[in-house]
Amino acid sequence: MAIHILSPQLANQIAAGEVVERPVSVIKELVENSLDAGSTQIDIDVEQGGSKLIRIRDNGSGIAKAELALALARHATSKINTLDDLDSIMSLGFRGEALASISSVARLTLTSRTADQSEAWQVYAEGRDMKPTIKPAAHPVGSTVEVLDLFYNTPARRRFLKTDKTEFMHIEEFVRRIALARPDVTFNLQHNGKLIKQYRQSPLEKRVESVCGRSFVQKAIKLDWQHNDLQIQGWVSSSEVSELQYFYVNGRVIKDKLINHALRQAYSSRTNEQQSYVAFLQIDPKQVDVNVHPAKHEVRFHEARLVHDFVYQAIVMALESSQQLAADDEKT
Ligand code: ADP
Ligand code: MG
Repeated sequence: MAIHILSPQLANQIAAGEVVERPVSVIKELVENSLDAGSTQIDIDVEQGGSKLIRIRDNGSGIAKAELALALARHATSKINTLDDLDSIMSLGFRGEALASISSVARLTLTSRTADQSEAWQVYAEGRDMKPTIKPAAHPVGSTVEVLDLFYNTPARRRFLKTDKTEFMHIEEFVRRIALARPDVTFNLQHNGKLIKQYRQSPLEKRVESVCGRSFVQKAIKLDWQHNDLQIQGWVSSSEVSELQYFYVNGRVIKDKLINHALRQAYSSRTNEQQSYVAFLQIDPKQVDVNVHPAKHEVRFHEARLVHDFVYQAIVMALESSQQLAADDEKT
């Protein structure tokens, strides 16, 4: 075969392989976009575990008509300009890949209205050249992204989807994670027309209570520790019935080996106890690289050892004080 340039759709489908694994990955990307757009309410509607329909509606900034088609193009982003911007990234997205990837493996329509537009517009792109068509629509200020028939054109991927119930479990778990990170935002989650979860805008402690349960907050020890420009806050507990493990770096949901190691070590002397925590690490964005993996679950810390030991120390101290409290309780 002669060398040739892949069609936009195929290039996007290949990229989608890294970002769009299953319905929850679509939801993650779309909800992150809504958060980046400054939304205070995000409605997530799902049908058949997300394989039939995913609809995310937000009240964020919206996208101007002139930029609507561009939003679906690959490498199109409003979030960074230069490589330097990556060093201090505050937005959740920046790769400009999600909408292009999703619309190459599903039927995606984006409807949006900005505050200075009197009407909304809708864009849809499909086919080899992914050429977008735009038409007027009705929508309040904000955006709705509708994703139908995920993987309809990539049957090999579609076969990997689990039951609706399993896919929806992953979605619920993601919504819990993001809800913990953003108590200032209301999240509504519907499945097959039924409201399954509603997290209303509230102070952090209330949000932790509604996601993790009252007993977790009551039994947990407050975590609040600072060293230079590292700060960690949250709750740790060793007495939960089931494990609740949520760790955030600068508001990002993180599954990181280094952090996990620090946490496991901190709990290692308590072999029979459940390890539950909700912890928020704040660090200078310059000290952490989030551009490690397309799905952005992993991060790289410039001073890995320092961060590791800081997290370890903070958790150990919190756990020790919880033991102390328990001992005091027994005495009285
Ligand atoms: P990225 O988030 O990495 O920039 P995406 O493909 O997810 O890339 O989105 C492309 C662009 O579309 C974003 O940079 C943003 O400008 C715009 N956009 C996407 N979703 C929304 C939304 N819900 N509200 C406002 N703007 C959005
Ligand atoms: Mg994005």
